This record gives sequence, C-alpha cells and structure tokens, in this order.
Amino acid sequence: MRGAFLNKGLAMFSNKKSTGPVLQPEPVIPVDQRKTMETLMADDCRWPIGDPQGADFHFCGKRKVDGHPYCDFHVRRAGQTSKPRTVAYPHFAG
Ligand SMILES: [Zn+2]
Repeated sequence: MRGAFLNKGLAMFSNKKSTGPVLQPEPVIPVDQRKTMETLMADDCRWPIGDPQGADFHFCGKRKVDGHPYCDFHVRRAGQTSKPRTVAYPHFAG
C-alpha cells in the first residue's frame, strides 16, 4: 500500500505545468553607475551582483520600491528565486 501512495505523490509532481515564469537576464549596470557599500544610498536597490569577494562586486543601485530593499526588477526576481537571499520582507508600519 505504501508503494501505491508514493506513486500517487510522484504523479502529482509530473502533472506540474512546465510553463513557469521565465527569468529575465540580469541587467548590466554601467561601471560608472555601480554602487558599493560606500556609495549605496538608502533608496538604492541593494541587490548584490557578482562575487562579494571579487573586485567587481557591486549593488544594482536603481531606485528601490517603497517597502522593499530592491528595485522593481529585483523585487520580482527575489520572488521568483527558490532560495531568497534575504529572510522574509519585514512589514513596515505605515
Ligand atoms: Zn535592482
């Protein structure tokens, strides 16, 4: 009986639609617009780009969406990735 139950579970997975959201490619930030820890402003998107240990590591730096640490593009990107880089968004009062 246990085997039949497992098969049922697997069938549910295989029925999953394959038409998921398509990830858009990361926007390339021009070098002179890149933000670092030093230049990132409170209203800038703080989506990390590149290797944090690398010399070219920077943040997105676009105008962020109110209530989110990221710009419109990266708010959506954060919602699409299965492993969010941040814990759940805090709900800001007001
Ligand atoms: Zn961004």
